[in-house]
Amino acid sequence: MSEQIYVGVDLGGTAIKVGICDAEGKLMHTYEGPTEVPLGPETVINNIEKYVRHIVEESPYDWEQVAGIGTGVAGFTNVKEGIVILAPNVGFKDVPIRSILEERLGKPIKIDNDANVAALGEAWSGAGAGIDHCVCYTLGTGVGGGIIIGGKIVQGFAGLAGELGHMSVIPDLEAIQCGCGQMGCLETVSSATGIIRMAQDAVDRGDRTSLSLVEKLTAKDVIDAAKAGDEVAARIVSRAAFYLGKSMAAIAVTLNPERFIIGGGVSKAGEFLFEQIRETFAKLAPEPVKQGVTIVSAELGNDAGMIGAAGLFLRS
Ligand code: ZN
Repeated sequence: MSEQIYVGVDLGGTAIKVGICDAEGKLMHTYEGPTEVPLGPETVINNIEKYVRHIVEESPYDWEQVAGIGTGVAGFTNVKEGIVILAPNVGFKDVPIRSILEERLGKPIKIDNDANVAALGEAWSGAGAGIDHCVCYTLGTGVGGGIIIGGKIVQGFAGLAGELGHMSVIPDLEAIQCGCGQMGCLETVSSATGIIRMAQDAVDRGDRTSLSLVEKLTAKDVIDAAKAGDEVAARIVSRAAFYLGKSMAAIAVTLNPERFIIGGGVSKAGEFLFEQIRETFAKLAPEPVKQGVTIVSAELGNDAGMIGAAGLFLRS
């Protein structure tokens, strides 16, 4: 048993998920424990150490087989220095997590932000398996993203590449302010938050829609109503899809990816949403650039973070 294994840690605000992967990105073992953010960064780091040791102990593998431990964190990270600059969800500010964990666990450690590791996970062994150039969107509260070119995460000058939700794609007259301070960002319409806001606006305006009967609107309510033929809801979902497709056309001429992968809660709308995104993409991307390009749903769900974190050793 000398096969090397890779441990991936998905450090979230509520739970720390730990997985063991082989060199092909196959997730073989998982464990989950509470993050315990209110107890402070020291406790959170202790928990990571504890859970990593625990999962290896209860697996059929030996500690000697662990070739590296990767960690994905929801927040700003300095990948080169191994520092979490700011991660409010886990209560980290300027935490040199790589050196701390390397000292405690005696293994090589790599870190990156959660969007990048989730993208890497999908690219490695999910919807992008076997494809070297792909761009991943996560449609949740916001719109997250990660870019994999040549099989590796694109970091950019300051590690900020892949902030797809903040591409300014909405025309000025329709643009509203985004949480980032800019106007007209993609996530103001294509995130769950954006979809709910547009629906609430329609209800407040007095538009004739079944959504006016819904107590507390969710993105799923809007998507379900659209599928059931509610015209107002359908217009909102079309708008979310249109700007996703438009942003993809812009990315296609910039990076020429082979595949766009879409995950997150809103992507559960399925083909209803995807068909509209593909339609816009086909309309707006120049002919040679769109040849052979596919737009598909993510496959790994919540496991993408663990798998991608483990993959930091082989694919970054
Ligand atoms: Zn923004």
